[in-house]
Amino acid sequence: MASTDARGGCTCRFVRYRMAGPPLIVHCCHCRWCQRETGAAFALNAMMEADRVALLEGDVEIVATPSLSGKGQKISRCPRCRIALWSNYSGAGDAVRFVRVGTLDDPDRYPPDVHIFTSSKQPWVRLPADKPAFAEYYRREEQWPRESLERYAGLRAKSARGTQ
Ligand SMILES: [Zn+2]
Ligand SMILES: [Zn+2]
Repeated sequence: MASTDARGGCTCRFVRYRMAGPPLIVHCCHCRWCQRETGAAFALNAMMEADRVALLEGDVEIVATPSLSGKGQKISRCPRCRIALWSNYSGAGDAVRFVRVGTLDDPDRYPPDVHIFTSSKQPWVRLPADKPAFAEYYRREEQWPRESLERYAGLRAKSARGTQ
């Protein structure tokens, strides 16, 4: 069986990380905020439990950044070349990292599972017919595979215990 581990890092190679296992889900986000942050048409984020994303080399600098929800996000960047490696959003908290798929050594491996905020999609982007797309967001229970929902439930149980 092929390893489910993926490796990635920043452009200057100060930061290297390992992502263990397939993502919970991969978002292709077409919101204007992601467009501005990437300087492109969309962001590709692989949602992963924080404890499945391990730094192998270097360190990250956490930059507080405004977000669409108004609650802000924390972007982990290489302190040298400033490439963004992953974000934590206030919704899921520090337990879930939104890993930027483009920083993986093999980004082809995790294409988007779902397209979100397509209401602000740039008009030249054509969405694939075989993937769900939502004008804004979606209901997790309806789109995530069962294994991902189970992993997420385990994560919530763990973080609930941690705050007691
Ligand atoms: Zn770097
Ligand atoms: Zn977005």
